[in-house]
Amino acid sequence: MVSVRPETTDQARLVTLLRDDGPRSRVELGDVLGLPRARLAAEVERLVEAGLVEAAGPAASRGGRRSSLLRLGRGVRFAGVVVGTRDLVVTVTDGELTPLAELREPVDVRQGPEPVVRRAVELIAKLRAELGLGRLTGVGVALPGPVDVREGMPISPPLLPGWHRFPVRDTIAAELGTPTLVDDDANVGALGERHAGVGRTFDDFLYLRLGAAVGCGLVLGGGLHRGATGSAGDIAHLRLTEDGPTCVCGEVGCLQAYCGDSGLIGAALAAADAGRSPALAARFDEAGTLTVADLAAAAGAGDPAAHGVVREAGRRLGQVLVGLVSFVNPAIVIIGGAPAGLGHALLAEVRALVYRRSAPLATGTMSIVLSDLNERATVVGAARLISDHAFTAG
Ligand SMILES: [Zn+2]
Repeated sequence: MVSVRPETTDQARLVTLLRDDGPRSRVELGDVLGLPRARLAAEVERLVEAGLVEAAGPAASRGGRRSSLLRLGRGVRFAGVVVGTRDLVVTVTDGELTPLAELREPVDVRQGPEPVVRRAVELIAKLRAELGLGRLTGVGVALPGPVDVREGMPISPPLLPGWHRFPVRDTIAAELGTPTLVDDDANVGALGERHAGVGRTFDDFLYLRLGAAVGCGLVLGGGLHRGATGSAGDIAHLRLTEDGPTCVCGEVGCLQAYCGDSGLIGAALAAADAGRSPALAARFDEAGTLTVADLAAAAGAGDPAAHGVVREAGRRLGQVLVGLVSFVNPAIVIIGGAPAGLGHALLAEVRALVYRRSAPLATGTMSIVLSDLNERATVVGAARLISDHAFTAG
């Protein structure tokens, strides 16, 4: 498999263009990159020799000499690993980041990092065998918590007990002998939206990620903005109230304690316990516990208390978003990871509050939408994360 990197910035621009736009003719590539024909031919030749690019047959004629199509080499293969609080997902993609095969299985992240990382490596090996692949071009990893990208490890992740400073990147890179990068799932999801989702057409957007962990990925000027130490967009534990629900971090009133999965379940349990929701109480008596899906079902069936929990979560999210929107001025806000059945109710609350409380200049043309990629955003984003590295001139 191909594990070399482009040698020059022109080669890097060329493979990035083929990754993002698919096969292109030599003539188009020359036009887009502004390279003279001889120079382009030389750069393409080097990339073909390295296996990064290959011919893909003749291009449609534009009159005159027929041009040939080029695409990324068949040996360019990335793996994306998404560690969730419940599931582990491993995907192998081609050079254009289209998933070729995927494995998903339940995971218990509270066992600590070693068994989870070992399992991820095993699943990658399984996919490689299935697809008949040798060494991969690179591996991207998404974790549900703060990550020091330069060190390649999580830093005090509240949802990953025992993972603090575990060298996730170096362990996987050593096991597989391939370049590896690790980032938090909000940043990775934003990269996925940028590559294959609504974010493709926007250079400045916010990707708000819900689920077990709440976070925000910022794409500014076309690229991911990580901040000085990589914690930009880490909004999970912004404190919204002094007397709110208890959070997994030990504080009270955090955004995640209202909008994260366990916050929603906690509020649903409280409603059932206080006799405010017959639907949730009945479900609790039946199952001995409540899930986000139960809350969605009760809210969907018109249970006022369940609907109240969702509205409160939407209002808290909107409250934070008003600040973010006025500060960042995004062209669009994409909400990903919303629990099935709750997305539209949450979105309605968020929209109402943000449009009411924001300056017209900031939100006049800004839309707030649900992700149409859902979980595929992180899978594709993980491959995008490492491909950005692999396609930089080395
Ligand atoms: Zn917290």
